[in-house]
Amino acid sequence: METPVSRPRIDPEFAVFPLAIRKSKIHRYGVYAQERIPANRKVIEYTGERISRAETKRRGNGEYTYLFTLDNYWTLDGAIGGSGAEIINHSCEPNVVARIMKGHIIYLSLREIQPGEELLVDYNFTYTGDKSRCACGARSCRGVMEKLTPRLQRELEKYRAARDARAPRAAHKTKSATA
Ligand SMILES: [Zn+2]
Repeated sequence: METPVSRPRIDPEFAVFPLAIRKSKIHRYGVYAQERIPANRKVIEYTGERISRAETKRRGNGEYTYLFTLDNYWTLDGAIGGSGAEIINHSCEPNVVARIMKGHIIYLSLREIQPGEELLVDYNFTYTGDKSRCACGARSCRGVMEKLTPRLQRELEKYRAARDARAPRAAHKTKSATA
């Protein structure tokens, strides 16, 4: 079942600061700060329909999913009753972090966020063999949205080595062209 959020909006009941949804360079839509947000502050709560593990498995196969694991059993599906936090894009250099507090998923600011800045969170997906390609554009981008584990690290290194073997001079060419 594909359930893209058709008309994304911020629910002010769950947002502590004024936020806006706009098109994002990273992926479809993004959430943007409309005012300065100090560091270490609650920014927005991630809400959604509370679903079981079996239901999560069933819904997890769509093209667009807004599933957030709350604990070993429960998942929140932000596609239904989402506060707008489900629109926040992934980045390998995030400015907000998700914390689970008393059964609620709270997004906290990791640093001061300027007005107009896009909110970005590290999805830290659990690696189970499928990689989600990352195009966040951060300098430290690890190339995938999964949390790095020793196994994933080894696989990524293997992949990069194979790619470099295919195009050994491509990187140098780009460099000298821009120098
Ligand atoms: Zn990235």
